[in-house]
Parts: sequence; C-alpha cells; structure tokens
Amino acid sequence: MRIIPHFIGGQAVAGQGAFQSVFDPNVGIAQAQVNLGDAALLDTAVKAALAAQPAWAALNPQRRARVLFEFKRLIEAHLDELAVLLASEHGKVVADAKGDIQRGLDVVEFVCGVPQLLKGEFTEGAGPGIDVYSMRQPLGVVAGVTPFNFPAMIPLWMLAPAIAVGNAFILKPSERNPSVPIRLAELAQQAGLPPGILNVVQGDKTMVDAILDHSDIKALSFVGSSDIAQYVYGRGAAQGKRMQCMGGAKNHGVVLPDADLDQAVADIIGAAFGSAGERCMALPVVVPVGEATATRLREKLVAAIATLRVGLSTDREAHYGPLVSQAHKERVERYIQLGLDEGAELVLDGRGLRLAGHEAGYFLGPTLFDHVTPAMQSYQDEIFGPVLQIVRAATLEEAIALASRHPYGNGVAIFTANGDAAREFASRVEVGMVGINVPIPVPVSYHSFGGWKRSAFGDLNQYGQDGIRFFTRTKTVTARWPKGGVAAEQSFVIPTLR
Ligand code: NAD
Repeated sequence: MRIIPHFIGGQAVAGQGAFQSVFDPNVGIAQAQVNLGDAALLDTAVKAALAAQPAWAALNPQRRARVLFEFKRLIEAHLDELAVLLASEHGKVVADAKGDIQRGLDVVEFVCGVPQLLKGEFTEGAGPGIDVYSMRQPLGVVAGVTPFNFPAMIPLWMLAPAIAVGNAFILKPSERNPSVPIRLAELAQQAGLPPGILNVVQGDKTMVDAILDHSDIKALSFVGSSDIAQYVYGRGAAQGKRMQCMGGAKNHGVVLPDADLDQAVADIIGAAFGSAGERCMALPVVVPVGEATATRLREKLVAAIATLRVGLSTDREAHYGPLVSQAHKERVERYIQLGLDEGAELVLDGRGLRLAGHEAGYFLGPTLFDHVTPAMQSYQDEIFGPVLQIVRAATLEEAIALASRHPYGNGVAIFTANGDAAREFASRVEVGMVGINVPIPVPVSYHSFGGWKRSAFGDLNQYGQDGIRFFTRTKTVTARWPKGGVAAEQSFVIPTLR
C-alpha cells in the first residue's frame, strides 16, 4: 500500500514505528498508510530547519518573494491534480477542493509582497541627533498544526507568511488527509525553496506534544477543535512559545423580515451543506426574526434542500460528498438523535442515505431541525456535519443576544435590506467575523481571519498583517552618532526628551 511520507530537509522520509490508515471516504476503504512520527523524528526536522534558516533569513526579501511567486505559479499549474488528491482523502467535491486550494493560494499571493510588508518604521530626530527605527525579524524555527477540513488552505495560511518573512517552518498536518501538504512541500522545493525551510512531519497527539515541548520551536500556529486548541495554547504558552490557536464554531445566520428570502435561502443552504457542513465558517444555525419570516423561510428551505444532490467527490453534479470518516459520521448521527431526544422538530432526516454502489462511503443526507432552543446541547455544541438548525427569534435584539451568548464566536451573518439594522448588528454582535448578506465571511487574504470567545485562543489572527506580525518580532533601535567637538556628558536619571 502507498506510504505517505514525512518531508524533512528537502527529502521524503518514510518513518518507522506506528502507521495509520488514510481512507477514501467515498468508498470507506484504506488507500494509504501514514507514519505517526515521534519526538526523535521531529528533532531531525528541527535540526534541518535550524541549519537552513539563517541563510534563508539573510536573503533579501525580494529574492524570497521570487521563490513565492514561483511557488504560486506551480500550485496553479498543479491545481487539478491537487484538487483530485485532496478530494480523495477529504471527501469534499472537486470544485470545492479547488476553492480550498485557491483560498490558500491567495495568501501565497499576498506574501509575494513581503518586501513591502516587512518595511519597518523610522523617526528622524526623536531627540537631539537621535533617530529611532524598528524592524521586523523572523523568529527562527516555527510550526503549524492543522485540521482535516482544509488540507491546503490552512497549511498555506501559516506556512506562506512564516517562510516569506525568513523563518523555517515545520507543518504537522491532519493525519486524516496528509497527502496534499506533502505535495505542497515538494512544489515549494521545486520553486527554489532551500531544503529544510519547509518540513512536514506526520503524526497525531504524540507529535503535537513533541512540537509543544521542543525548545528550538519558537512559535506555533494551531487550527482545530476548541478543547484541543485550548490545551495546545496552554501547554505551548507555558513554555514561552508564541501561540495562536483557532478553535471550533457554531455560526448563526440571522434573517430579517425584509431580506430577499430566495437569495438568503440559496446562500444559507450553500453555507450549511457545502463540504458536508465540515467548515468552521459553515452556517449550521439559521435565526429567522418573527414568526411570519420563520414560516416562509422554513417552506423555502425544505423545498431547496429537496433539490440537493449528495454524491461522490468526483461527481460534478454533486453539491457535497461524504463526511471525512466513519467515526465522524457516527458522531453527527448521534447529534441528530440528541436533537430529537431534546425535543427539537426533525423536519428532514438525512440518516440512512446509501449511495448505490458505494454503500460503505460515509454519506449523510441533509438534515433540518426546527424549534431548536438555546438550552439544547445539540445547539450549544459544534456538530460539523450537514445539519441545519432553525432557532426562532422574536426581534433583532433577541437574535443579537443569541449569537453573542453562544460560547463560540467565529462567524455570523445577517440577511437584510436594512442598512441601519445591519450596521447595528455588525457593531454589537460578539463574534469575530461578520457577513452582511454574505453567508461565509472568510476575510480576503489581505485582511485577517480570527474568531472570538472559544473560537480562538491568543491575540493575533491568521494571515494578512496579523500573519506577518505573528511570525516576526519587532526590534526597535534608538541611535545617536557622535558629534565631533561636543563634550561627553554623564547622567544618572532615566533619559527623557523634555
Ligand atoms: P482536531 O482538533 O481533532 O485536530 C486538529 C489537529 O490537532 C490535528 O492536526 C490533530 O492531529 C491534532 N490533535 C488531535 N488531537 C490532539 C490532542 N489530543 N492533542 C494535541 N493535538 C491533537 O480537529 P479536526 O477534527 O481535524 O478539525 C475540525 C475542527 O477544526 C472543527 O472544530 C473546526 O471548527 C475547527 N476548525 C477551525 C478553524 C478556525 O480557523 N477557527 C478552521 C478550520 C477548522
């Protein structure tokens, strides 16, 4: 069976010890094996990174940018191949896999401007003959740990800014779909990235703990579920590492009575069921405001969901494919049962869907609940599947409170034609990313991505200017040059410029 390797010091490394199967979720069959690396393997990657990083950092930023331009070109040239590979391990449809790669590519494109992004600050004459300047320097060896649901986009969110500013990077991708990250590392090397600047180590918790405990790794960017994000954040920060840890989500879509309902329904079902709901910016909760809106919205949702096609990830007509694993499918099914047991109305039940000829695939039909209430556990928790819950609100005020009180605060959307209401909502809602008539408000690459509350631990967001800040540290220099003929002075008080 195919072995998916690590990538260390510019070479594929098979690894020893424990291996884990990587499945094709379309057919429920193991298609490859991946080695679960340990602390010793990580150490070889860190040594390769330490050896390569100073020369990379010493290159002028324009030269580093040239490698990134070529990396971008190569990813574009391999887009079809990467998308099919990604879909075969994740289960998302190929068109969606291309979007996954494209959103990561946008960040590569953004950091091609690294000469401009790295420019520091300068103040001439901050005191008599004194100039002050600050510069951004790389941290050294830094790392990223990524989730299964965006095998290209999230690694690229992290590795592109990290290496652009002069760091060496160690990526630990999800063990459920580790092939695309390896291909990205190969393409980066082909683009001219020196061996050792981008390393991929495969593994599970053991590898993550080894990264957290390795004293030569100076920063860690993590994306995954909230409990693990919080654990990773705490253990890394306690050892003095710079940490940013993004967690789970439960995003609400608020629908006001004046919204264009047909457009809102089209947006909501795309955001709720696309990628089988396995997105941290999915829209699994819809909040119609007012009973009349709820009645009309529910009718239209039921009709629209009936047209959805669940199919193989290679099926061009399919709206979404299988879930990532049998275990995850069973978890989502348990949440559907929980919703029923808690008293929500199960309007459409997606359980039991079988695709002819692919009965062992991890498929789940679209599921719709109505009359879900905030006290229900199935509302509080992230389900991460093709399950949409209707939570009715009487007023905009109640809808704002609902989204604000939820423990997660990643994304939220409002559908309305009323500018005042939208502005009020965007200003007051306690959520990190807001869409106004935009169902999936993932910020473009030159802004930054990050949620609030249990959706993110740490201060700086992913990519954009925050990505540059996270992977650099600022040094500030206050300089005075000797002036001929001026007598030396002594002072024992803190220097001031008054
Ligand atoms: P996960 O938390 O299970 O895994 C994420 C990473 O952590 C993987 O690389 C995994 O190997 C590692 N890991 C797993 N268990 C660990 C442990 N006990 N200790 C240390 N490391 C461990 O997440 P997932 O199932 O791969 O991804 C889905 C989750 O990611 C969802 O909760 C989703 O909302 C979230 N997510 C968040 C964002 C965001 O930006 N906020 C983006 C995408 C996904």
